[in-house]
Amino acid sequence: MLKIYNTLTRTKEDFKPIRDNHVYMYSCGPTVYSYAHIGNFRTYIFMDLIRRVLKYNGYKLKGVLNITDVGHLMRDGDDGEDKMVKASREERKTPLEIADFYTKVFFEDLQKLNIKKPEIIAKATDHIQEMIDYVKALEEKGYAYETSDGIYFDISKFPGYGKLSGINLEDQKAGARVEVNSEKRNPADFALWKKAEPEHIMQWPSPWGMGYPGWHIECSAMSLKYLGTPFDIHSGGVDHIPIHHENEIAQNEALTGKKSVNYWMHGEFMLVDGGKMSKSLGNIYTISQLEERGFSAMDFRFLCLNAHYRKKLNFTFEGLASAKTSRERLCAALYKHKTAKNKTDQEILDNYKRQFVEAINDDLNIPLALGVLFTMLKEKKSEDIYKLALDFDAVFGLSLDKTAQPEQNGEENIPEEIMALVEARAAAKKAKDYKTADQIRDQIIKAGYLLSDTKEGTFVKKSE
Ligand code: AMP
Ligand code: ZN
Repeated sequence: MLKIYNTLTRTKEDFKPIRDNHVYMYSCGPTVYSYAHIGNFRTYIFMDLIRRVLKYNGYKLKGVLNITDVGHLMRDGDDGEDKMVKASREERKTPLEIADFYTKVFFEDLQKLNIKKPEIIAKATDHIQEMIDYVKALEEKGYAYETSDGIYFDISKFPGYGKLSGINLEDQKAGARVEVNSEKRNPADFALWKKAEPEHIMQWPSPWGMGYPGWHIECSAMSLKYLGTPFDIHSGGVDHIPIHHENEIAQNEALTGKKSVNYWMHGEFMLVDGGKMSKSLGNIYTISQLEERGFSAMDFRFLCLNAHYRKKLNFTFEGLASAKTSRERLCAALYKHKTAKNKTDQEILDNYKRQFVEAINDDLNIPLALGVLFTMLKEKKSEDIYKLALDFDAVFGLSLDKTAQPEQNGEENIPEEIMALVEARAAAKKAKDYKTADQIRDQIIKAGYLLSDTKEGTFVKKSE
């Protein structure tokens, strides 16, 4: 039974889909005004892992990922400059050109990272009418009011506000920044629709004059259109819990009077060198920048797989380098199984498969599942192990069928007598006979080979 952690209930729950076998899922996508960075991609890898684990469990999927090409403001609230407009001013391109360019790069990066595209990609600009209809309906139900600059959601009409993040409205009022919009009834009221100044580049006709949608309404309108209400899973990064997702819940539940999402799943943040990523610190990396430094998108994916999605992941280039080495070792070990002709007992295979399923179904414990794979690869070389590793790769998405290859350092050419010494040393260590183990190690070194002991086992290569 698959268990997942639900932000709404703050517990790990058994996953029970609404429809027998078909899971409906919505994931917040990119605002395409600039390159997505490695932090964003950690969250999209997380989305991909949820989808792959569901598929491994036999579910069919209907997934929606939105592309925010309308632009939204620099801050999650209703203030700050429109991101798309800012980019188009700086790059001297139309917002459409900006959105098309960065959307294209985004999909190329997804492909490099082996992130499968969800079934439905929903562009915000294709759904303006649905958003207007949604806001009109909220207005008719008495949840929205008009000010001189837009239509706002009145959160005092929605008593459940704050249940996802545990935010208390009174605290929020007390901590509110200086109120920028004195016409708002409550500080946390948020824009459903903004009236556009004539010079605002992206604007559409609406019952309230020319304007553009609020960011939160995009996700509510598009999820309602494609997935209905309620649907099974909504995913995104943890930064979206307190405003964006709280506001989505308020809109959805005000409109339909029903719970809209059964499981809210949130991925923790990626930090860089222990801190926040920010333009001013110059530590926002793109996938191409990692490639320029000699790393592949798969190295980055592997790095992400090694941390549980609910734990912060601190990105450093040293960490990425060791992920790369570890992944190459995995591929080399796998290659030996691929090329072996032996068989493995079904019981042994079943045991690994059981451990793997237990790990992925325990709230996506992918690091543990990788551990199962590494242990399995230490078994006697056999084609059966190779096949089972490829089966596991349906979840990992590491393209193991293509990347299984001999180790670059010519490990294939290590003579048998040296390998016999390596095994003898391992046996001595296991028997806690460290003196013998050390003597054997010296013998190996004298013969011109280097040993490195790692979590995944001992590796040997010819010294330079
Ligand atoms: P945005 O384009 O800012 O809406 O972000 C796209 C996705 O990336 C959202 O799901 C965010 O929660 C997520 N995200 C943004 N920054 C980070 C980060 N440093 N680490 C992980 N996820 C992030
Ligand atoms: Zn969203």
